[in-house]
Amino acid sequence: MTATCVLPPGEAGALRRGACPSIAAPMRTGDGLLVRLRPVATALTAQDLLALADLARAHGNGLIEITARGNLQLRGLTEASVPRLAAGLAAAGITPQTGVAIEVPPLAGIEPAELADAVPLADALRAALADAALSLAPKLAVVVDGGGVLFLADMVADIRLDAVAGAQGLAWRLSVGGDRATARAVALLPGERAVEGVMTVAAALAAIGPAARGRDLDPALLAAALGADPVPPLSAASPVHPLGAHRIGTETVLGLAPAYGQIHADRLAALVRALAGCGATEFRLAPHHTLLVRGLRAQMLAAAQACAMRERVWSTQDAPGRAVSVCAGAAGCAAASFDTHAAADALVAEAGDLLDGSFDVHVSGCPKGCAHPAAAAVTLCGTAAGVGLILGGRAGDAAAAILPADALRPALTRLGALLRARRAEGETAGNLIDRTAPATLVSAYQGQQ
Ligand code: SF4
Repeated sequence: MTATCVLPPGEAGALRRGACPSIAAPMRTGDGLLVRLRPVATALTAQDLLALADLARAHGNGLIEITARGNLQLRGLTEASVPRLAAGLAAAGITPQTGVAIEVPPLAGIEPAELADAVPLADALRAALADAALSLAPKLAVVVDGGGVLFLADMVADIRLDAVAGAQGLAWRLSVGGDRATARAVALLPGERAVEGVMTVAAALAAIGPAARGRDLDPALLAAALGADPVPPLSAASPVHPLGAHRIGTETVLGLAPAYGQIHADRLAALVRALAGCGATEFRLAPHHTLLVRGLRAQMLAAAQACAMRERVWSTQDAPGRAVSVCAGAAGCAAASFDTHAAADALVAEAGDLLDGSFDVHVSGCPKGCAHPAAAAVTLCGTAAGVGLILGGRAGDAAAAILPADALRPALTRLGALLRARRAEGETAGNLIDRTAPATLVSAYQGQQ
């Protein structure tokens, strides 16, 4: 296998924010260049992950991220080191995907509960899109969801194909611009027309222009172009978070997530070696910043989870830090004015019992708010003057109060104590925050109770 993407001299960092940072077009961030990649191989070995850790350390600053869509990001590269990374990946036999991102469930092809193996259809789509060479949006996303325990119900895409079992047998529901519940239906297609359906949508996008997304399309016009009948609604389905242990057929698959989506290469290597000692044979990248581990011996599951905890990797769905969205912060971004990961750790230590998932918490190194662009119930945001508290707003909104970074932990202690004292039995923390006057929360933050 070969990695064909090599950075042209002088073009490093030319990518604008919002485009897709690949090896050919890395993105400049506060800690150098960032490269996002998804290996072609869905199943990675321990050797693959160890090679990736070595490459991240040798050519970047060692920080590795798993994104919400299950891609890898290596940080802290330079214009000189990106081509060496490409060569190193090739030498390790790791080929990054290129072209339109086509996502399938992480256990596609091996899940007994799936309706269809999405991989062959995704491969056929990849080939058709490459042949057509259409000018499409760089961040265009296609989901092919064959079902199964870890299906992609909550994965937003420009184009979706969802497997549906009907009276006529298996069919693929084509839809545009959303997740399984919100994407607008276009057509119900037999397997042999699924590629044609996606290519019809892709051609319509290309006709609008290279910035067009699924939301810009008219499903009725697409259905007419395909000569398709009206589409029945999809049955309701709640996605299963990949974090934690899952029974898949006769095996147990363990979903692990690096704390706040980021791990250092040294910790990743230590974790992979420890998991291999617990029987792990295969690793798969998955949505929600997750790495799935296969092959663990049943009696070694607890040991594997303990190894994960030692390396700051979550292995259960009740990890309180999961409720906190955190950007790279001072450890990985020059724009950050404080250590967001340390702040999130302090939040977990001082108020972990309140992080019950009923409200969004966002810790942002600066007002840009990369980790959570939408409003959150509580945001801690770095500013030139200190760490701002924003209630019910975005990181870029005006802070209700600002404290020096070294005063943050006592402020979190006060907020935790206040909320605990006011909490009714069985009440969610989200409800508690909703019914607490903002001025009361601000006073606690400032130490003016
Ligand atoms: S929000 Fe965080 S990652 Fe984004 S620019 Fe600001 S400090 Fe950097």
